[in-house]
Amino acid sequence: MQTPTHLLVSAVVGRQLAQRGFTVHLPAVLLGSVLPDLPLFLLTVGGEVYYRWFARLPVDGSVMEYLHLTLFFADPFWIASHNLFHSVVVNSTLIGVGYLGWRRRRRWGLALFWLAASMLFHTLIDIAVHHSDGPLFLFPLNWTYRFASPVSYWEPERYGRVVMAFELGLNGVILAHFVQLWWRRASL
Ligand SMILES: [Zn+2]
Repeated sequence: MQTPTHLLVSAVVGRQLAQRGFTVHLPAVLLGSVLPDLPLFLLTVGGEVYYRWFARLPVDGSVMEYLHLTLFFADPFWIASHNLFHSVVVNSTLIGVGYLGWRRRRRWGLALFWLAASMLFHTLIDIAVHHSDGPLFLFPLNWTYRFASPVSYWEPERYGRVVMAFELGLNGVILAHFVQLWWRRASL
């Protein structure tokens, strides 16, 4: 799913949980909703700059194809960077560590718990809406297995257009909801 959608959906869920009495660390929830996608974003920007201005592309085709169709699937550094926080194994472990810290009243415990819980939520959404390029959610135990969901958020043969329209509509509704909340608070 698109990174801004993860941010908006997690903002709604985090707020709802806080309103229902859960001890939520909202900044950690918001950071965790986008952190899994950050390494790929930085690698893509870095790769674009490097292959446009500093080095020749080792294959025919576009830079973006080389980055997202070759390195994404084959380069160990790209695989590790992108899947570290898209991993159910890594995020579940971090949730456990955060929970223990929280119970022992360590200041980082609550933040780590919600950061990892939010990254796990991001990963579960990604597993559901990726067909050919889903996360290696068993990383680092397994470096190749991706669940091929029947639905993709971008591949046209896998309802990509429908999901894209739904995603856009959802973002519109959530944004309108937050503008309304802000408006109500501002006019009090
Ligand atoms: Zn993602």
